[in-house]
Amino acid sequence: MKGRIVILGAGESGVGSAILAKKQGFDVLVSDAGTIKQKYKDVLSNYAIPFEEGKHSEDEILKANEVVKSPGIPDKTPLVKKLHELGIPVIAEIEFAGRYCKAKTICITGSNGKTTTTMLTYHLLQSAGLNVGLAGNVGQSFAWQVAEKDYDYYVIELSSFQLDGMYEFKADVAVLLNITPDHLDRYEYNFQNYVDSKFRIIQNQTEADYFIYWSEDPVIQEELKKRNIPATCLPFGLAEVPEQGAGVNDNELTINWNKNTFSMSIFDIALQGKHNTYNSMAAGLAGSVLNIRNEKIRESLSDFRGVEHRLERFLKVHGIEFINDSKATNVNSSWYALESINRPVVWIVGGVDKGNNYKELESLVREKVKAIVCLGTDNKKIVDFFSGIVPDIVETNNIKDAVRASYYLAKDGEVVLLSPACASFDLFESYEDRGRQFKMAVREL
Ligand code: ADP
Repeated sequence: MKGRIVILGAGESGVGSAILAKKQGFDVLVSDAGTIKQKYKDVLSNYAIPFEEGKHSEDEILKANEVVKSPGIPDKTPLVKKLHELGIPVIAEIEFAGRYCKAKTICITGSNGKTTTTMLTYHLLQSAGLNVGLAGNVGQSFAWQVAEKDYDYYVIELSSFQLDGMYEFKADVAVLLNITPDHLDRYEYNFQNYVDSKFRIIQNQTEADYFIYWSEDPVIQEELKKRNIPATCLPFGLAEVPEQGAGVNDNELTINWNKNTFSMSIFDIALQGKHNTYNSMAAGLAGSVLNIRNEKIRESLSDFRGVEHRLERFLKVHGIEFINDSKATNVNSSWYALESINRPVVWIVGGVDKGNNYKELESLVREKVKAIVCLGTDNKKIVDFFSGIVPDIVETNNIKDAVRASYYLAKDGEVVLLSPACASFDLFESYEDRGRQFKMAVREL
């Protein structure tokens, strides 16, 4: 035996880590304080991996040489604190799996746009014929794939919680999309802690690696002044086309890398909206440094089908376009959603407020929103703020009423946008559930 690994949390990443640890010859225990999904219990049993649920048996856990912790478990949990006190290393799944991964990694983080950019980059690499895996928030965990697959490349979405448990891991290509305040409750309400966490995306990088980032983000700009970055830096932004990097000029997205120049009209990009131009530049740059040919990049950026619940244009009813942006759970995401639409909008907004400042949306709302349909158990803050700004405000507390009200308010050629700027837990199980129920209600119109 190589030693004892304890896995805390038996979700996708925990179960993947357990399989990999077992395969590598460790003594493994999986412990989950909640209930473990039946499908994961079956997998663990099949691999003869011991597990417990509904509790954490401290005696057993403290015998570990190392602990792999699910990103969902905060550091301030008493058990995790105790592990730290005893000097038992607590790491993330990606850190653990990275030790056994020989493939090149393209790692993507940011406050918004991670999943979209990860899926787009994966699409690009796959269309170019590379033997590539997708890991992070979507599908099978990285550890599970490292245990059982043999990819040459991985595109990995990384949240700040995962990055917090990463020490030796190195991304060959690191992408940092943006940094805006989020999850501050997990960072002692200190924004710099969150910024530091995001910047772990470039830790351990050398001259042989690449760092792709949004050059116009004030937070990133400030942080770059403090750091000396060994990797090749490739900025992207809308203001100018850098000598090495990506930008937009006269509506042409242009990428300069090495001696190669790539360009295409932003109107030919599948994902519309300013935020998606950023995401497309980031993905295009990642493809460029992997030497993917210009025509493949062009093809992939123009035929990407998008990701469910992210500005998903799924149906037109009597000329009214319905857009599902249920994933927009903060004000910043809804800002980009509204920004991307150039027709009158009936905006469905509301849910669990995470300390929203609607002032940031005021000018876009004045310009584009003809009516607001509130969708939440408590809509007061939205009603109070937008009264006098938007002529029609309707309150609803279920998806069917919200869809009916917006259908009634919108006209041919206009848009109904579900972009709640809030979490979904007052009325729904998750943002996915909210998005699916929305689409179902629209289809029933
Ligand atoms: P994440 O995985 O980081 O949560 P997603 O790709 O799921 O990001 O997108 C979440 C929301 O953020 C979407 O509703 C979208 O409108 C918005 N968004 C996408 N890309 C960006 C970006 N580059 N900047 C700001 N907002 C974005």
